[in-house]
Amino acid sequence: MDKKKLDLLRDNINSIDDKILNLLKERAEIVTDIGEQKKSMTDVVDFEREQEVLDRLLKTSKTKYSKDSITRIWREIFQASTKLQQKNKSTIDTKRSINSINIYEGGKSSLKGMDNIIKLSSNENSYGPSPKVLEHINLKETLLNSNRYPNIDGKQLREKLGHVNNLHANRIVLGCGSDETLLFVALAFCQDGDEIIHTQHGFEMYSIITKIVGATSKLVKEDENYKVNTSSILNEVNPSTKIIYLANPNNPTGTYLSRSEIVNLLKELPKNIIVVLDGAYAEYVMKKDYDAGFSLVDEYENIIITRTFSKAYGLAGLRIGWCYSSEKVANILNKVKGPFNTQSISQELAIIALDDKEYLKKVINYNQEIKSWFEEELKKLKIRALPSEGNFSFIETSEKNAKKISSHLANEGIIVRQLDSYGLPNCIRITIGTQKEMEATIKSLNKL
Ligand code: PMP
Repeated sequence: MDKKKLDLLRDNINSIDDKILNLLKERAEIVTDIGEQKKSMTDVVDFEREQEVLDRLLKTSKTKYSKDSITRIWREIFQASTKLQQKNKSTIDTKRSINSINIYEGGKSSLKGMDNIIKLSSNENSYGPSPKVLEHINLKETLLNSNRYPNIDGKQLREKLGHVNNLHANRIVLGCGSDETLLFVALAFCQDGDEIIHTQHGFEMYSIITKIVGATSKLVKEDENYKVNTSSILNEVNPSTKIIYLANPNNPTGTYLSRSEIVNLLKELPKNIIVVLDGAYAEYVMKKDYDAGFSLVDEYENIIITRTFSKAYGLAGLRIGWCYSSEKVANILNKVKGPFNTQSISQELAIIALDDKEYLKKVINYNQEIKSWFEEELKKLKIRALPSEGNFSFIETSEKNAKKISSHLANEGIIVRQLDSYGLPNCIRITIGTQKEMEATIKSLNKL
């Protein structure tokens, strides 16, 4: 090491930093003047303008700093500028992205003044848990141990999952619902200013998670059948992209990507970008070209596949989800995962549920049969259900009709989900419940 040379270079850095600081001072003055011009506006943030500034800079940038570093630096400048322009400088301050989160509402679970409701709004399993789970539970014994922490990372459940699915248990990470595993990914791989790609009408949590970590959503539009095209996803990729979330099949549209479409995407994608294949409804899919397995994880280090006990296994209340990935990625996710994030009872019962393959098969078959029957009945009523691979029907109509149908059903004690919060007010999602529940729904729709 040439100490003299190093000192000289450091002096140069110091003087450049001084210049940058002076330029920031100049910039802040102008930002403040712009703030004066925006005085009458309630919201001073203009995301389109920010993107314009970024695009221009990225086009002309010749620095050795990577483009995603430039993007992050300027996004920090935008955030600092917003603070200068905001009138109400509240004392409690969050990341700017947190302010714009609309808290996840989920499907309604009650109706005022009604006791016997039929809940078809959250894609739960109307059949309840496997009878084996109900037989097994000796609540008293399990609760006697509730002064003890659960197994720190659910080793027994991971081993069981590994055994049942022929996977490496050390590459499975459990979450408090698969929601939590989705969040782990963003916490581990994203920082403020990065970008996350998801589809325009993808699962609602993706945009919330993006905001939690301070990243920016890049939305991919689907075609007229709500199906996403992998080349449209690739078009959104740039050096700031860190994660792509894809629900397969997707909630709420019910559309899916085949194995070959996913392989095409993975082949084209830079290897540093993490693809999360969210398989919350994977068990329900009957299509031959759908891949319900995990072999892609062995071929691609950058893919994470999630699963949940909340849907086909009927254990939504126990909050157990999991993900499978390469050892490298799993080790990273484990650094983010809190200790004891899944409960003793949940771990214990999920193990039992995995043993009841007959029950799972029954649930899946019922879903298939009842969904076909229900959608045929809808057709007779001139209500259009698009093909859906999940445990729900996805109905497209006019906004007025969607409102009329969902309020009519609510008046009759049946809760379905009009999809306003997904930006699809003209669509309704109806979970496939038991035959009796679906017959009641059709009967009620006949009265409309
Ligand atoms: N992904 C998708 C696509 C979902 O629809 C849901 C539940 N609505 C989840 C993940 C989260 O499920 P959980 O946290 O219960 O596993």
